[in-house]
Amino acid sequence: MDFRASEQHEILRRTVREFAEGEIRPHVMTWDETQHFPTELVPRLADLGLMGIQIPEAYGGAGMSAVEYCICIEELARVDPSVALSVAAHNGLCTAHIYMFGTEAQKQRYVAPLARGEQVGAWGLTEARAGSDAGATETRAVREAGGWVLNGSKTFTTHGRVGHVMVAMAVTDRTAGRHGISAFIIERGTAGMSAGRKENKLGMRASDTSEVIFADCRVAGEQLLGREGHGFVNAMQVLDDGRIGIAALAVGLAQGAHEAAVRYAKERRQFGKSISSFQAIQWKLADDATAIDAARLLTYRAASLKDGGASRTTRESAMAKLFSSEIAVRAAENCVQIHGGYGFVKDYPAEKFFRDVKLTTIGEGTSEIQRLVIAREILI
Ligand SMILES: Cc1cc2nc3c(=O)[nH]c(=O)nc-3n(C[C@H](O)[C@H](O)[C@H](O)COP(=O)(O)OP(=O)(O)OC[C@H]3O[C@@H](n4cnc5c(N)ncnc54)[C@H](O)[C@@H]3O)c2cc1C
Repeated sequence: MDFRASEQHEILRRTVREFAEGEIRPHVMTWDETQHFPTELVPRLADLGLMGIQIPEAYGGAGMSAVEYCICIEELARVDPSVALSVAAHNGLCTAHIYMFGTEAQKQRYVAPLARGEQVGAWGLTEARAGSDAGATETRAVREAGGWVLNGSKTFTTHGRVGHVMVAMAVTDRTAGRHGISAFIIERGTAGMSAGRKENKLGMRASDTSEVIFADCRVAGEQLLGREGHGFVNAMQVLDDGRIGIAALAVGLAQGAHEAAVRYAKERRQFGKSISSFQAIQWKLADDATAIDAARLLTYRAASLKDGGASRTTRESAMAKLFSSEIAVRAAENCVQIHGGYGFVKDYPAEKFFRDVKLTTIGEGTSEIQRLVIAREILI
């Protein structure tokens, strides 16, 4: 085992960090306050390979490893968790699902433009009555001559409004339970598909989150993604990898909050001293630094297993996501606390980290669901 970062990893981290500092940081608060999804940033993300991070070059991607994917997401989240969430959902959900389970024709048609950043991807599993219990999906797809007719709606879809291509799960056989759910690729502009309400969110406000409605939405037979009835199982496989991305996002967010807390603790003076000289502050910083390192190691373990060809990382992905998101909540809270009243106002980054971080214990499976998955793996 070698815990040192390779030179290649260091260069990648520096490159993404410089990009995030130079091209994202100046806009973070404006995008947050106006809930602006930065479409204008997408070509720049694509130039760095960040729209197709793990997709092979043959399909327009950057061909990076899972560990490198984590480094990219971490460095974006350190500056703006919203941008990191959009990049993670585009790469880790929509694009990954089509790359993992699509036919060669589907990969050529959809993965390449997504990976080159010419299109933005969305992925819809969650519904109003099917959240943690995604098997309760109600959106249905009925076979007709030459294709399928979709009816229903998806909630909380990242890029539901701005996405060009969406993967959506729908029931194709009501009698087969989870094995009666299939995945479909739907292009924006398909008649019968429309964006519903855009959510007005606590945090992650620059990442578009919207409802998507299907009303007699007709798609051709070749839009079925993967085998009929395998949509739910494939979605769970996609989430095993996706959760590594959310774990990396939480690590990066925690790192950003921690650095802001250290900076402020050194600057701020009370009782004639720097507040960093108080043990109460030092312990918070020490606990956060230790927890962030542990979270990063859990996250890189899951990613390394994936890079090493592990057939599944369900347990390791869930552990990384659970631990990283929960320590990130604590790091963001400590960041606010160390800033005192200045942590409560928008002149400092603390309040935004505190708002953004909560998504990490909810999206791609709540903490409760991660514990359920881990327990199931232990009790097998
Ligand atoms: C900003 C944002 C972006 C998102 N992006 C996407 C996306 O792109 N695509 C997509 O498909 N979804 C997306 N989601 C949805 C997200 O994955 C769900 O919100 C999440 O899975 C939880 O579902 P729910 O909100 O319906 O909560 P519920 O499932 O209703 O859960 C409510 C509470 O009950 C708990 N609970 C539920 N079941 C159990 C159980 N068996 N045991 C113990 N506790 C339980 C939960 O942990 C939670 O605390 C997004 C959500 C947000 C907020």
